[in-house]
Amino acid sequence: MEKVDIVIIGAGAVGLAIGSEIAREDREIYILEKETSYGKGTSSRNSEVIHAGLYYPNDSLKARLCVDGNPMVYSICKENNVAYKRIGKMIVATKKEEEKQLEKLLQQGRENGIKNLKIIGKDKIHSFEPQVNAISAIYSPSTGIVDAHGLMDFFYRKMCQYSRIDPLVCDTEVINIDRSEYGYTIRTRSGSELFSLKTELVINAAGLYADRVAGMVGIDIDKEQYRIHWCKGDYYSLIGKPPVKMLIYPSPPMKEYQGWLGVHTVPDIMGRLRFGPNAYYVDKIDYKVESNLDKFWRDIIPYLPFVKKENLKPDMSGIRPKLNGPTEPFRDFIIRHEEDKGFPGFINLIGIESPGLTCAPAIAKMVGKIVDKIL
Ligand SMILES: Cc1cc2nc3c(=O)[nH]c(=O)nc-3n(C[C@H](O)[C@H](O)[C@H](O)COP(=O)(O)OP(=O)(O)OC[C@H]3O[C@@H](n4cnc5c(N)ncnc54)[C@H](O)[C@@H]3O)c2cc1C
Repeated sequence: MEKVDIVIIGAGAVGLAIGSEIAREDREIYILEKETSYGKGTSSRNSEVIHAGLYYPNDSLKARLCVDGNPMVYSICKENNVAYKRIGKMIVATKKEEEKQLEKLLQQGRENGIKNLKIIGKDKIHSFEPQVNAISAIYSPSTGIVDAHGLMDFFYRKMCQYSRIDPLVCDTEVINIDRSEYGYTIRTRSGSELFSLKTELVINAAGLYADRVAGMVGIDIDKEQYRIHWCKGDYYSLIGKPPVKMLIYPSPPMKEYQGWLGVHTVPDIMGRLRFGPNAYYVDKIDYKVESNLDKFWRDIIPYLPFVKKENLKPDMSGIRPKLNGPTEPFRDFIIRHEEDKGFPGFINLIGIESPGLTCAPAIAKMVGKIVDKIL
């Protein structure tokens, strides 16, 4: 049976970023992916926002890795020709009662280490974006957008530099993992073919299925609270000339699903404008846009009153791998070496929802340190 040093399960932004970070000439690494190429999961179905990190509780992994990841993504883009735009973001209050929420967010953002946030008033808002209706806003100049595929292409190229063979093995689904003398035996399925390989170290970056992969090795995912809940978000594109260039977010809808930022503007690198994503829990993976258009539009018009419902067209959707169910409070990313559970050399990354794209290079650094300690 073939043996390699490290197997990464899942070739999304996170698995690829980790691969690019831990690749060495003397390490044999495979990255196993069930789809036909990398980046076909959540990493290609998101808002492509380089977040600043103000929504997440102080000292959480989400906050720390996002604040660290933000400048890392910008410098990767700058130095390696990955498309990005530092377009800035406004989180707007359209009613008096929302202003308290903005103050809380501003304070949290500052506690998280974001230095350049400020509250701006109507005049400044209009000088940035004349069509936006708001009485005040948090202005975040370090928020931007990135070409997520370009970023993944960079991680993949960097990982390949250190490898004699292509480290990416597509069309290969991990279906079982056993503890063995050498470390782990990974069983995979590719079409009707079954294949096994041995490895010393496993990195589970399987996104929406990371809980199932953790279960394969024998971790009780309910006892450990690793079970993922799928939370879908739809996007609608706007027909016609975009009325704004910036990222405009409403005050976060606190009473609804925890961690949802609200339907916001989603400008892309090509200059098109979408709106989204909303949030609703689902029990199957189906990317068909199925939201009620009227309800979706009503989330937009408080801050962009001139958007016409008939100009919104269903675009795409993405699904969040959330650790908290609909009524449950905030849950942080799980990134851990499972040695204490009896699985030395097994690293789990579970619940890597937003801002996982922004965090990817910082997550990779964190996992790289764990790997260096193990090997
Ligand atoms: C609607 C939405 C909007 C978002 N917006 C943003 C944003 O603006 N900014 C931001 O920073 N983050 C955002 N995110 C979060 C971000 O997209 C994710 O955190 C990030 O893409 C996760 O990457 P990943 O590699 O962990 O997962 P994925 O991209 O899902 O990759 C996991 C891979 O594992 C593979 N896999 C699964 N099971 C197996 C198996 N058994 N065997 C082999 N392969 C397997 C899958 O096919 C997949 O390719 C958003 C997410 C969503 C859903």
